[in-house]
Amino acid sequence: MLSSTRTVKLFQDRVRACSNTTTLALPSISTKYYNTSKSDEASGRQSHYSYDHPSTKNLQSIPSTSFHANRSINQIGSPRYLLLQTRQMSTNTLPPSILAKYSTEIYRLRHLRNVGIFAHVDAGKTTVTERMLALAGIVPLAGSVDSGNTVTDYLPAERERGITIQSAAISFEWKWHNSDASLLGEEGKSEEDEQVTIQLIDTPGHVDFSVEVNRSVAVLDGAVLVVDAVAGVQAQTETVWRAMTRPSMKNHDKGLDHDKENCSGKRWSSDDTHGHEPLPCIAFVNKMDKEGCNFGYALNTLKKKLPGANPVAMQVPLFAVGNTVISDTLAGNIVAVPASDLDMRTVTNGKFVGLIDLVEMRAIVWPEVGSGGVADVEECVPAVYNLFDVDSKAIDPDSQVTIVALAARQNLVASLADVDEGMEEIFLMEKDPSNYELRSALRRATLDRKILPVMTGAALRGKGVEPLLDAMADLLPSPLNRKPPALLDQGDASVSLKSRGRGAKKDVKILKDDCDGESQGLIKFGHPLHPSLLALAFKVVHMKNRGGSGDGRVVFARVYSGKLSSRDTVKVITPANNGENPEKPRTERVGGMLELAGGKFDNLKDAVCYSGDVCALIGLKSVSTGDTILLASNEGKGKKKKKSQKDSEFEISSGNECLAGVGAPKPVLTVRVEAENAEQESKLLEALNLLVAEDPSLQVEETGSATLLSGLGELHIEVVVDRLKREHGLAVWIGKPSVAYRETVQRVIETPGLMDYDRTIGSTRMQAMIHLRLEPYDNPKGHTSGDCIILCDPVVTLGSKVREFLGFDNETDESELAQRCNIANALISGCKGALKRGPMGSFEIANVKCHVEEIDAEGGIASLKALPGAIRAASSTILTSVLNSNKAYCSVLEPTMSVEISASSEMVGTVLSDLTTRRGTVDEVIMGDDDTSHTKALIRGQVPLAEILGYANNLRSITGGEGTFSAEYKGHSACDLG
Ligand code: GDP
Ligand code: MG
Repeated sequence: MLSSTRTVKLFQDRVRACSNTTTLALPSISTKYYNTSKSDEASGRQSHYSYDHPSTKNLQSIPSTSFHANRSINQIGSPRYLLLQTRQMSTNTLPPSILAKYSTEIYRLRHLRNVGIFAHVDAGKTTVTERMLALAGIVPLAGSVDSGNTVTDYLPAERERGITIQSAAISFEWKWHNSDASLLGEEGKSEEDEQVTIQLIDTPGHVDFSVEVNRSVAVLDGAVLVVDAVAGVQAQTETVWRAMTRPSMKNHDKGLDHDKENCSGKRWSSDDTHGHEPLPCIAFVNKMDKEGCNFGYALNTLKKKLPGANPVAMQVPLFAVGNTVISDTLAGNIVAVPASDLDMRTVTNGKFVGLIDLVEMRAIVWPEVGSGGVADVEECVPAVYNLFDVDSKAIDPDSQVTIVALAARQNLVASLADVDEGMEEIFLMEKDPSNYELRSALRRATLDRKILPVMTGAALRGKGVEPLLDAMADLLPSPLNRKPPALLDQGDASVSLKSRGRGAKKDVKILKDDCDGESQGLIKFGHPLHPSLLALAFKVVHMKNRGGSGDGRVVFARVYSGKLSSRDTVKVITPANNGENPEKPRTERVGGMLELAGGKFDNLKDAVCYSGDVCALIGLKSVSTGDTILLASNEGKGKKKKKSQKDSEFEISSGNECLAGVGAPKPVLTVRVEAENAEQESKLLEALNLLVAEDPSLQVEETGSATLLSGLGELHIEVVVDRLKREHGLAVWIGKPSVAYRETVQRVIETPGLMDYDRTIGSTRMQAMIHLRLEPYDNPKGHTSGDCIILCDPVVTLGSKVREFLGFDNETDESELAQRCNIANALISGCKGALKRGPMGSFEIANVKCHVEEIDAEGGIASLKALPGAIRAASSTILTSVLNSNKAYCSVLEPTMSVEISASSEMVGTVLSDLTTRRGTVDEVIMGDDDTSHTKALIRGQVPLAEILGYANNLRSITGGEGTFSAEYKGHSACDLG
């Protein structure tokens, strides 16, 4: 901590420095904290829109301040963000010739931010989003989740529950307050230079919908993590942080660890696993108006609970003690509460009024709005007080606010010096960095994920969101700052299967393992400057009366490279699941594009979606979530280019590249669904199929007598049932939920050498001998949490003796063997069939490797060739018998949930004893304590899913209605079925 004499001296030095620099009068900063949107015609973009923006009638009444630049005119002469961006580009190693040639395109991309908002349920994601849309002029008033009129929660079920179920993409323009382009206004630059296009993907916080989180991570460039100022980091904050920082698109059941074998035994390099890099992120501590809020506590939980996060406060919250009077000077009753004041002793019963921006060293104070919380942006324009404004005397250099601000800025500089060379140099020379230097260092450190900048506010009261939007422009990456996605080359299944001989190339091969913008001096396919189309369908929804003709299917896609027009013919490729044969690519014509502005989804005429952008496509019937979209003509184009060597700066696309898709966790809960009558029954199936196309984490299975629906938890299933009713008019009956038990082996078990199978069915003799070995498959380290394991499907491998017998080498993998040799195919499918029913309770077997060591038959390979059914029956029967005779070494696994229960302190005993009867274990109890802002107790632990079905009601009744809980699937753990 700096002494107050030292901080005051620092401040005085800075004031002196200030008076030597040119003072530029900007338009009133107050009015600038209010954004307008423009039509984007000038830039030639057709996929953007113009919005009515609210009038500015009330703005005059707000006190204005002028803006004193504290840097030399030379620095101001170069637009700051361009300087920043040039530096980022250099990390992408694009040569100057490319920078010059594609300057218009680079300029467009630099002004684009694809951002996702993540949080624990109820932390305020939707409220923050709505506030952003209101500030951007898209909606006149910020909707309220409490009154159910928000734009981003557009399904009726979501509005009613106040949670966001499906991520909706929304795009808007935001004026960039910190862009030095604004300073160039006088030199003839247009206002458009200051605008960034922000594309928000509103993501769900409820982990029952974690597939939504995964799929948005796959298409985002940056993230905002909203944290509750009272609760700090919560269970699902940790989950979304994991998804953000380990965003393999298949991060649930495949490619779990960088350099280890994944569940299907296939190796992926780290870059392949990370189809996308981890997301640079900003944290926003929301709800600072709530009783018990504590910025310092929230910051500490970020530090303690989010691995790898290095949270650094960019702001200091301001509180009013006593009556607030907003005047031309910062009111004397306003105090700053530093993050280090963990007991919040600086302020008791203060009211959150604003914050200090530690980069620009200004206090931003919002007016108080009605108690309802939903404020018209016009009534909530903040006053801005520059802490270095020499003339206005707005701020007393000896005031508590100034002293706290200087110390906090010093902390920020010191934290950046730890991770950024540029800042380290300045720090070691004991210089005070300019605001520009500080912001540049913040950007570099955020992009490299060396720090997590922490901001604060109260979105519901309209406070803190403008600086957050600015920070999204300042600190989060543009598409140019991201590596192109990893690609697989899937070949054309129909061709490659036919033409394949021995030693032919594998169907699916890893194409790219170094992921920066270039390979051998070429711009990679997938880089935003590459001209060939590469897009990922990251979300499919069905909207009545949208989606052109047909079933109303709307496909949300992120375009990585090239451009996609509303009438293009595209090639759709579905990534092959590990070990499975790839599907044949389809060719389809796009029917049109919908406007992405806040839930309107109007048809756009002749729209084009350029690289880096997200679009909503209609008329595509065969596209499901996770599919790759290429232009049907990509392949031809590439070849021509190759011949003529034209456009040689671009890597050539084979026309068969495929993105890794979107990983969906396996369902853990199943219910039986029945419609009222036979006619509704067929409608039910249709409706369920539509829902499955939208949500890959749902599964529907028809068994002769019933329709089974599986999902990720009770809420997931409930929402589906709700949608069936509302959107499809189907009243369905739901059976008792059953949880997805699995079985596994605890140690190696095997047949005693070759085991004989010999049956005669009718006049056919089926005879074969097999030696099998089963072993537990350990998940790669780091993914076994506590006693829980993450499930993966069983893997069947063929040993060298088997390969020799069949005439294959050791290199060919099992999926290729199965395609090329019908005996191998029969053998593998026989084993897989037997692994569908375990010996303990007929549950599917998981997390095992089944090695076929040796096979033989009395008539040799010829007899097996003539009758592959013999080897299928033999492998299935022998495997089942080996499992049955080793029951003692098998165990049943059940889904286990991490729970977080909040209840009043007096109720803790009741809740804990109830948890014990549910076979729950308790990890942590944080008791409510009036001294430290936590009035409620928090209980964290683990409970088997089977024991907490219907727990919401039970908790309500045992706590007199005030207990709440959230549950997240953690993994499967061993259980005793009794
Ligand atoms: P989400 O689940 O993360 O999308 O959270 P919501 O935006 O739906 O907000 C959850 C609840 O918190 C709602 O009742 C909001 O009104 C409330 N809320 C959101 N932001 C704030 C805030 O800044 N202050 C207060 N006091 N409540 C807030
Ligand atoms: Mg929400």
